Amino acid sequence: MAYLECKDLRRVHTQFSLDVSFSMDKGELLCIIGPSGSGKSTLLSLICGIDTPDSGTILLDGKDISREPIQRRNIGMVFQDFSLFLSMDVAKNIQYGMKTEPGKDKARETERLLEMVGLQGYGKRKVTELSGGEAQRVALARAVAAKPQILLLDEPLSALDAPLRKRIRTMIRQIHDSTGITMLYVTHDREEAFAIADRIMIMNGGTIESIGTPEEIYHHPKNLFSAFFTGDGTGIPMSLFGDKTEKKYLFFRPEDIIFDEISDQDKYVILKNAEVFSVEYTGSGYVLKLNFKGYMVTAYSQRRPESKTMDLAIPAEAVATLS
Ligand code: ADP
Ligand code: MG
Repeated sequence: MAYLECKDLRRVHTQFSLDVSFSMDKGELLCIIGPSGSGKSTLLSLICGIDTPDSGTILLDGKDISREPIQRRNIGMVFQDFSLFLSMDVAKNIQYGMKTEPGKDKARETERLLEMVGLQGYGKRKVTELSGGEAQRVALARAVAAKPQILLLDEPLSALDAPLRKRIRTMIRQIHDSTGITMLYVTHDREEAFAIADRIMIMNGGTIESIGTPEEIYHHPKNLFSAFFTGDGTGIPMSLFGDKTEKKYLFFRPEDIIFDEISDQDKYVILKNAEVFSVEYTGSGYVLKLNFKGYMVTAYSQRRPESKTMDLAIPAEAVATLS
């Protein structure tokens, strides 16, 4: 049985409506990605109880929590802006709402949680003296201390610089693995989602475009939006290949394009006489932009191209037909 289940969950604003159905397993780390304004935060506020749905249900561990007041839901939240209590020191922040088993020492538990986020000895520090990265790690420790049934994270790393974001995302995955907490993690950074998610859900305009493992989402996208949102690629209308009836596109990834002569042409989509438009060296290879009948093709290559026009071949199994 699903651990979290959102069934026909709807929330209508004047210019926007959210309409989603999905479920999560216990212990899963599900990342939500999608453009700004696609409804990611709206969905989290319905699950945690800041907002109430117009219709539909949210079941958590079999219990309908859709209309439960926020204080009766056992749900943790970590936001971009940390939202720590500025008047309390680090230890008091973590102990606020802490659940400990009888006989367990709160101070020892606090130190254990601080160690988990790499901040051992920080208990007596003032929150106002922490760096952004430290503050967010305290916010994580505080959220975990309350032993929530599910932890919701809304772009928790957006305010931090890139190297720190990478370090803390790894830490979040480790916290997930060591505690087993079910996590629903919103990010606008697809690389972050690919790095830590068990599954990824792509939202757009208040609806779910697709949901699947990072590998499924990247290699077998369900539609053009999901395909382009999860990485580089090329979409060429099927009408260019003579199919005038279908308004569909052939989509493929840059790393699947082959430049060598191929023998068994039936097993490939062939793009003849693509013109090289630009070549950029990345260290690990070359990124080529090519013009094929007015469509820009992105390709990765291990060699610098030797001529201005090239024939490209993409194995049929690496080409998706999408709309
Ligand atoms: P995301 O988190 O994906 O960037 P949001 O869920 O914050 O998107 O917002 C989705 C849309 O809903 C936006 O267009 C936003 O303006 C609108 N919205 C959110 N909250 C309200 C509200 N309380 N009243 C009216 N519109 C809202
Ligand atoms: Mg948001």
